[in-house]
Amino acid sequence: MGLDDIKRRIAAAEDRAGRAPGSVTLIAVSKVQPEDRVTAVLDAGHRVFGENYVQEAQGKWPGWRDRWPGVELHMIGPLQSNKARAAVDLFDAIHTLDRMTLARKLAQQIAEQGRIPQLFIQVNTGDEPQKAGILADELPVFLSSCRDLGLSPQGLMCIPPEDCDPLPHFRLLRALAADHGLPNLSMGMSADFEAAIAEGATHVRVGSAIFGARDYG
Ligand SMILES: *Cc1c(COP(=O)(O)O)cnc(C)c1O
Repeated sequence: MGLDDIKRRIAAAEDRAGRAPGSVTLIAVSKVQPEDRVTAVLDAGHRVFGENYVQEAQGKWPGWRDRWPGVELHMIGPLQSNKARAAVDLFDAIHTLDRMTLARKLAQQIAEQGRIPQLFIQVNTGDEPQKAGILADELPVFLSSCRDLGLSPQGLMCIPPEDCDPLPHFRLLRALAADHGLPNLSMGMSADFEAAIAEGATHVRVGSAIFGARDYG
């Protein structure tokens, strides 16, 4: 289990960047991982986890939450609008607010359930046609439309294109967040979380470096 190593590396990256210890939240991405690997991380005291699929998370986390109180669960995968009800019920944060249809459903569910997950807007920083997220120049209008619905997104999230330097993407996300007064930045995965912390990440999403490779078999 790589949890301790990752925590040490996060602390060192915070220090190098002149950031306060503990200013970066480690989201342990447990999607598709075998139960024993996840429960070992729970036993080690970690409580912040990320999942990509509503149905998978619904199957695992209610039981684990009973056994390990204090879990904070983050939705980091694409969210279908028809899963908004389940997502608001289950997750403490949703990183993938990426379109108005979803914003409307979330606003409706938040009003109905009286639960307010922390919201991040996903930005398609690489302008990739196949990738979710709004484009950078759509952000001002999207943000104000979200606010009109009563939503208060507190951060931005990105997944930089594969096989390219993530730094320009982290920098763009940071600049966009600063322009709009959003305090949270969800960026950085197993391969690049230290670079993301240097660029101001407040939430890093680390899966395989903690749990080992995922087996999608
Ligand atoms: C799976 C996933 C991660 C974790 O990826 P690793 O490379 O295993 O750290 C982070 N963010 C998102 C959006 C993911 O889908």
